[in-house]
Amino acid sequence: MENLPFGRSGRFYRGNLHTHSTNSDGKHSPEEVCRMYKEEGYDFLSLSEHFMEYFGYPISDTRHLRDETFTTLIATELHQGKTKVGETWHVLAVGVPHDFARPSDGETSPEIARRAADAGGPSPSPRFPVCRAQIAWDGVGHAVGGGASG
Ligand SMILES: [Zn+2]
Repeated sequence: MENLPFGRSGRFYRGNLHTHSTNSDGKHSPEEVCRMYKEEGYDFLSLSEHFMEYFGYPISDTRHLRDETFTTLIATELHQGKTKVGETWHVLAVGVPHDFARPSDGETSPEIARRAADAGGPSPSPRFPVCRAQIAWDGVGHAVGGGASG
């Protein structure tokens, strides 16, 4: 934990980029999840629902839950293919548009990660100008795609 930047000067925002609601396999509605995080002092939250056919490929629209002290980032957790150890491969895609298309037949993990990174999305708030960055990794800590446009 010696490499954390919190001892440096500047404003740090508290947030979580990976959680779920009842729109996939979470236990609380999007409204409840955002309320709980806000009450705990978080500045931002991403509901990164499982982007799977079983759940109807949800991308939670949380824009109505934003206010002056709390914002949301539109995100999803992509699941496509298997890793070398047989686990379902998944990455978080933060900043995707609400109409991000379902995976096509045969689309590979790197291909959908690249498509998510290229899709971008609207910047959710002037307070978070870097929110158009997409972060993707393969579940074991290896970056497989990404970009920033804001
Ligand atoms: Zn998850």
